[in-house]
Amino acid sequence: MNRLFLSLLTILHACASTQAPPEVNEANPEPDENGLSTLHAGEVQTVREIPMEHTSEAIATVAKSLSSQVDSILPPLQVLSECHALARAHEDVLEAEIGRTESGHPIKAYEFGHGQTHVLLYAFPDPGEAVGGTTILSLLHGLVNGNEHLLSLDVTWHFIPCLNLDDQPDGGRTLSAVFRDPRVREVDWCLSNPRSETTALLDYAANISPAFTFPLHDEYHSRESIPLYVIVCEPLDSAMPERIRTCMQSFGLLWQEENPHEVMGTGFNVLSDLAGAEYANSTFSILEKYGQVASCEVSQQEGVSAPALVAAQMSFGLIMLDAILQKQAMRTEPAAAPDVDKPRR
Ligand SMILES: [Zn+2]
Repeated sequence: MNRLFLSLLTILHACASTQAPPEVNEANPEPDENGLSTLHAGEVQTVREIPMEHTSEAIATVAKSLSSQVDSILPPLQVLSECHALARAHEDVLEAEIGRTESGHPIKAYEFGHGQTHVLLYAFPDPGEAVGGTTILSLLHGLVNGNEHLLSLDVTWHFIPCLNLDDQPDGGRTLSAVFRDPRVREVDWCLSNPRSETTALLDYAANISPAFTFPLHDEYHSRESIPLYVIVCEPLDSAMPERIRTCMQSFGLLWQEENPHEVMGTGFNVLSDLAGAEYANSTFSILEKYGQVASCEVSQQEGVSAPALVAAQMSFGLIMLDAILQKQAMRTEPAAAPDVDKPRR
């Protein structure tokens, strides 16, 4: 279990607490000229309405509702086929091929919405890490079916339902327990010699500049009960760890109690601290330049159903997103008095 925990930490190593300055890009549109936008040196800011903060209980209720149709965690090919069908049936779901796997399978991305904040979720980064595929499918269903909470968020959603089909057991047709082969280059940990999936992911992210990237790594592949833990690139603000811990435990999931982070407490890890020098070899070291990158490592646990696993993973993402949207809005709120020391355009 400990080995798995450490190997998982290795997998996710990516985000540094010393953040590079955010890059100006297409996802952060230039402020308009109506005087509501304030541009300080080195950053683009657009005034937006402060969104309502949702309680973790309210978000868990939304996630439970969105995952209530889940019968089981689905294998990659089924997830891909259902996402494709949704895109064919709903013109507001855009499907694009963003690259090919090493063996030539198309890598599909699905986009929904026109919000200011871009969010990226990618599933099946490693073999058998399957919960995220079903989470993405449940979110897409929620979006096309008009889920009020999801549609209230000022977000453009980007989903990659299966990043790494090549390494999935049985060609992605079924799911089975998987134990990592250390010889396989993990898509998120090979920047020095990138796989085509790695390049596809990073090129796509460069186009959208996601303020939140949610890599759907998990511990489901082992079929072992591993206490849940979270990996973040940027340490979380004071109230967030407890908000997340309380929510996750409400799903009946065991929580990682070992090696508490000195500020965030139990179950939280900062990837750059764990990865050390290897961090520079991870996709996360690139993705964090656009915004927060965070993963919630769910595993199969006794008494926790498939819908509950999906709801827990989804709740984590929605709580993170809620906080990111709040923070962005607060940061771009117009100042009470102009700061004359800083240049205005
Ligand atoms: Zn993984």
